[in-house]
Amino acid sequence: MAPFICDRCGKCCVSLGQSITIERQLNDRDYYCRSKIDNTIFLAHVDEEFREEIADEFLAAGSSSDDGVKMPCPFLRKRPSGTEYCCAIYATRPKVCKDFLCYHMLIRTRDGAICGRVIGKNTLRTEDPELERIWNAEVTPVPFTNALEWIKQVTAILAGHGYWAESVE
Ligand code: SF4
Ligand code: SF4
Repeated sequence: MAPFICDRCGKCCVSLGQSITIERQLNDRDYYCRSKIDNTIFLAHVDEEFREEIADEFLAAGSSSDDGVKMPCPFLRKRPSGTEYCCAIYATRPKVCKDFLCYHMLIRTRDGAICGRVIGKNTLRTEDPELERIWNAEVTPVPFTNALEWIKQVTAILAGHGYWAESVE
């Protein structure tokens, strides 16, 4: 098993504004929040670097309703120093976010470079045309009735072509 590595693209958080909501502000860094995905409440503690902007946004939003509009999670932030996104409450993010892995298998070349990720049941994300060809021809027909058996078969198919597949956790 390989460790899951989040590259902070922000894609999983970009439409969660209606699922992760702030119920109440406790002070300028602490919020009483709800995760509607698993219907739990959690206390969010905002990182100091985002304290002011999140408090300002919360006040500005007032009681406005965004029903039907896809909004980013209120804690998704762009790092001031670059293009990467980050979670402003990373240490206190809700359980659904802590548990979420956006891919379950990593595929590497012979040199160890990451060349593919498997998301959902058996969808490949890759920019390697040879890997894509092998996947479509040989992996897609493998039945997904048992996850462990599927991993075993797919790993063997890819190894036969010089690729190394690993489940992530
Ligand atoms: S968990 Fe996945 S989708 Fe979400 S930010 Fe990380 S890499 Fe992007
Ligand atoms: S709490 Fe953090 S990890 Fe969870 S959806 Fe919001 S920004 Fe993403």
